[in-house]
Amino acid sequence: MTIDDAPRDALRGGPRELLRWVATGAAVSRADLSRLSGLSPSTVSQRVEALISQGLLEETGAGRSRGGRRPRQLAVPTGGAVVGAIDLGAHHARVGALDLSGRVVQARTLPVRIEDGPEAVLGALLAEVATLVGSGPAADGGSASGALRGVGIGIPGPVQHATGRIVSPSRMPGWNGFDVAAFCAGRVDVPVIVDNDANLMALGAHRTAHPELDHAIYIKAGTGIGSGVISSGRLHRGAQGSAGDISHCRVVADPAPPCTCGNAGCLEAVASGAALVTALREQGVPVSDLTGVIRLIDDGDRQATALARQAGRAVGEILAVVVNFFNPQVVAIGGRLADCEPLLASMRATLYERCLPLATQTLLIERVAAGQDVGITGAAHLVIDHVVAPA
Ligand SMILES: [Zn+2]
Repeated sequence: MTIDDAPRDALRGGPRELLRWVATGAAVSRADLSRLSGLSPSTVSQRVEALISQGLLEETGAGRSRGGRRPRQLAVPTGGAVVGAIDLGAHHARVGALDLSGRVVQARTLPVRIEDGPEAVLGALLAEVATLVGSGPAADGGSASGALRGVGIGIPGPVQHATGRIVSPSRMPGWNGFDVAAFCAGRVDVPVIVDNDANLMALGAHRTAHPELDHAIYIKAGTGIGSGVISSGRLHRGAQGSAGDISHCRVVADPAPPCTCGNAGCLEAVASGAALVTALREQGVPVSDLTGVIRLIDDGDRQATALARQAGRAVGEILAVVVNFFNPQVVAIGGRLADCEPLLASMRATLYERCLPLATQTLLIERVAAGQDVGITGAAHLVIDHVVAPA
């Protein structure tokens, strides 16, 4: 069982939370941890000792004294242990080395040709992780050089959570059925955890922006479209790992465009970046990729803007069902289409129109603010949760 599967209450003052308090500077001593968690000093000591023995915390003698013996000060070891993270997209991958608090130490973006197949693509990205992990001090004084504790990988397609296997992805020829976890396990001797990119974005955004909120929906709208669900403070994957996959939900569209899944009128076929590229080309607009579409929308192009509004309505329709059903505290949209104002405006309007007042009364609707590292941050937290999981 990973800590992600543990009941929320079991996490209060759990090893992960203790580590987070130290990493964020909220606590520098065992006394601080005891006060923050409400746990007894002996329980805190026990957990701190376990974290120290795992190399996840270290203790120095330099704490500030309030009169008596100077308390020992706790810290997350810098340069002691790092986590590798890969956020694979349709054309690019963000690769990073992060410390055990989930802070990015080194990261870079690499071009990717997904059609080269999983062995070539993942082999190159794992090699890049190894380079980043061994690459020494970062510009801000941190260090990526240390013991690799695990690698988290986000895939832009459905991932069966228990096995780490990709199942029927769109636009990923040669990847169907590929066992990412097994392939990577043969190349690095640390835990490798695989999930879909929307789940990683959800985890990264939630831990960064709203760790205090228990119920949240994160939409990732880029070349594809998907969502991640945070329920009772943890990532909700469902039975197989497909929870939150809204890409093939049917929306009102006339005519209903064909989808890669074989059906027609799926959200993905109407509102994803790939769908906008296709629709514009069919209208005779010579656009080559999503960047081109976003440029047209930013320039106020009539056709592109109309399509973005239509896409926003479609996302809003599906989201309205989700919000009515799930009653989240926050709905956040990320991915490259999140900056398209016409899409966001019509999504928001549709959501308010179609939702129960009780569901939207205090609902936050916002952009994911964590930037391009949100995916690798989520990937790192996936690994950190696994590494810090209690035995
Ligand atoms: Zn479909």
